[in-house]
Amino acid sequence: MLNQVLQAIDARRQGSLSDLKDFLRIPSVSTKPEHAPDLQRCAQWLAAKLRDAKLDAKVLPTGGHPVVLAKNEHRPGRPTVLFYGHYDVQPPEPLEKWVTPPFDPNVRKDENGYDAVYARGAVDDKGQVWAHVEAVTQWQQAGGVPVNLTMLIEREEEIGSDNLERFVRENKELLQADLAVISDTGQFARGKPAITYGLRGLVYCEVFITGPGHDLHSGMYGGAVPNPANVLCELLATLHDKDGRVNLPGFYDDVKPLTPEERADWAKLPFDEQAYLKSLNLTALSGEKGYTTLERAWGRPTCDINGLTSGYQGHGAKTIIPSAASAKVSMRLVPSQDPQKIVTIFERTLAERCPKNIKIEFARHGLASAVLVPREGKAMQLAAEAVQAGFGAPPTLIREGGSIPVVALIKTVLGIDTLLIGFGLADDRVHSPNEKFDLDALHSGTRTAAVLYEKLSQMTR
Ligand SMILES: [Zn+2]
Repeated sequence: MLNQVLQAIDARRQGSLSDLKDFLRIPSVSTKPEHAPDLQRCAQWLAAKLRDAKLDAKVLPTGGHPVVLAKNEHRPGRPTVLFYGHYDVQPPEPLEKWVTPPFDPNVRKDENGYDAVYARGAVDDKGQVWAHVEAVTQWQQAGGVPVNLTMLIEREEEIGSDNLERFVRENKELLQADLAVISDTGQFARGKPAITYGLRGLVYCEVFITGPGHDLHSGMYGGAVPNPANVLCELLATLHDKDGRVNLPGFYDDVKPLTPEERADWAKLPFDEQAYLKSLNLTALSGEKGYTTLERAWGRPTCDINGLTSGYQGHGAKTIIPSAASAKVSMRLVPSQDPQKIVTIFERTLAERCPKNIKIEFARHGLASAVLVPREGKAMQLAAEAVQAGFGAPPTLIREGGSIPVVALIKTVLGIDTLLIGFGLADDRVHSPNEKFDLDALHSGTRTAAVLYEKLSQMTR
């Protein structure tokens, strides 16, 4: 049966790509209210595809954007797998940096001569979701997916949005499973597929500084009044010490150190720093003293300014003391930092450091815990076999610096671990202009997904 499924997948490469392009054409940008109808349309499109595959698929409201929930026919005695993905995408701006428009998927060769499809959401996460939908469709046509399958494909939205959390809590029975599977991560490199066993958590804050009641003439008032832009810069400059460590008291208190085994394993990975620099158009890297690049990116916490706004930003000069300034700051957390504790430390410390003649306020845009999945065990072994079959190479076990808040949610609410099997490549430009998904990765990923459902049917319940 599996061979028949794999042959069907091989034979339908073009058809699968063309369906993915339809998926990518829908501008399902979740952070922008004006795209709400597109999210609705995207959910309906996906549900229709899953119904074509003879799954029972529904579009369910959540209070925010809808989620797509699909199930195959339940057979007692089989293990249940919960597949999670998201159909929403990041905003495409800046539009002028795109070689072809973000919602007009374009197939062309990448810088290294490999075929890829370029579009917003190509790899994050529509292309990877599509690999599973295609694999499931082929299984259904060959007699049925060999596990009890629940597919939950949502509109991630602003990370930490509590709509999904409420949905998962309220639908615990419906989502109950033995194991979860997510494809929203990457391979270690081309030809080196990976299973990710750790993700960082996230705290996303916004800082607002307010001074004079309106913008002031910088000649008449400059030097005599507090300048919110100056104050904001001074405050943000205190966030790191000279060794690149985050300078917030208590920030590192709960950090679970990397084990010597992990550090040794990562040191053996064929990480090419020169190629990494080149791909980023940089001449040198920076970060926390005493750690390698992989350790900094996968296993150490961070604090980064994600956006800064103040004063006059138009053409030419305008001499003002701005009345307000703001910054968006995110912190990537590692096990076992508590996002609630970290956000409190951040706000308290900046408030203490802020001059008293100026107002400081905060907003929180998302909190998520870091995740570690056991590196040993039956599920990991079966997943490794699936990757080997799908890509023709064994998986590398890696951690990633990004966050998938739902993994922690699945663990706490449903009590199950998640297999993170991702098909992306490091140069896919996730969240950036000219996002792409490699066509070989799409194909190998689809095959991996097909084999994975067969392998997981061997799981004991
Ligand atoms: Zn994603």
